[in-house]
Amino acid sequence: MAEAAASAQSGKVVIRNIGLLLSGDLDRPILDADTIVIDDGLITAVGQAADCNTEGATTVIDARGTCVAPGLIDSHVHPVFGDWTPRQGQLGWIDSSMHGGVTTMISAGEVHLPGRPKDIVGLKALAITAQRAFDNFRPGGVKVLAGAPVIEKGMTEQDFKDLADAGVKLLGEVGLGSVKAGYEAQQMVAWARKHGIQSTIHTGGPSIPGSGLIDKDVVLEADADIIGHINGGHTALPEAHVCELCEKSSRGIEIVHNGNERVAIAAAQAAMQLKCPHRVILGTDGPAGSGVQPLGILRMVSMLSSLANIPAELVFCFATGNTARMRQLNCGLVEPGRAADFVFMDRAQHTAGRTLLESVQLGDIPGIGMVMIDGLVRCGRSRNTPPATEIPVVV
Ligand SMILES: [Zn+2]
Repeated sequence: MAEAAASAQSGKVVIRNIGLLLSGDLDRPILDADTIVIDDGLITAVGQAADCNTEGATTVIDARGTCVAPGLIDSHVHPVFGDWTPRQGQLGWIDSSMHGGVTTMISAGEVHLPGRPKDIVGLKALAITAQRAFDNFRPGGVKVLAGAPVIEKGMTEQDFKDLADAGVKLLGEVGLGSVKAGYEAQQMVAWARKHGIQSTIHTGGPSIPGSGLIDKDVVLEADADIIGHINGGHTALPEAHVCELCEKSSRGIEIVHNGNERVAIAAAQAAMQLKCPHRVILGTDGPAGSGVQPLGILRMVSMLSSLANIPAELVFCFATGNTARMRQLNCGLVEPGRAADFVFMDRAQHTAGRTLLESVQLGDIPGIGMVMIDGLVRCGRSRNTPPATEIPVVV
């Protein structure tokens, strides 16, 4: 389990011979380019080799005709501390997810911490500690945006101001604590928003003993920034209520791996029909009762592409650019100025699909040949995906 120093610099990196470049941008999902130039972790140029200044690179990567996409963003995880989850007593789940192409994870609350404090001072202290700890520690190089307090009755606007002043930028899933009524949640979500803290609400039935039901009316009244696991975590609301949420709210539509698959497909199709695919973002909601899923985001991409009939290049945007824009992250899109976080993929060996995108649309998951974060190579051939047909090489 390599811990990447947050301060390591990539120097100048050139990625050449890219066969397919996915942008993360729904409006232009495939770029007409075969070269990316990086300087100290940030993209400086994207284009054809002849148009890019590739001189003086300290690292050159020959993509060997494979696909390069923005690193995947898992919009919904429940980390605790380090690369450990008490949910299933596992070590190394974040590093394993990096081998599944995930380069950024967003905490929806450190709710699995044994003995998690529920008093207001305690929950604030935990959030601040988690934010600091993951800011200082990046398992496998993955950027874990943590420190997501679960709101409880009795919190005042000053509490949200204190959290924001201390660097907390996220709320844990609204509804996992004692605040379950729509009017109460709405007030606290508004205080959070006023102080620059983004909110996510639990949607659907209880996830594990101790959590509760949040129905469509509470979701609409609370008006959190993200309709968290709209397909349930795992128990979903009735399909008609999920479609109503897509229609009546303008907030993020988060679809998760640890949810109801049938409703996941319905939610994605509703977003397409309502012409708001830019609102769709993907998460795993792991670690969960179902365990950890290092390939969870890739599996979501394949499932939505194959069963909801959405072109694969668009579904990759749900897991990259959409999330980056909604959550104001400097990653997720292939354009100058953005973080050089990439996943290199090719069609898995012996898939029936003739191309990477076709293989995903047939329901197979791609093979990962390399993952890069901040311009630094974090792994070569993935230990978790089916083997990629071709893999990139460091020249
Ligand atoms: Zn939940």
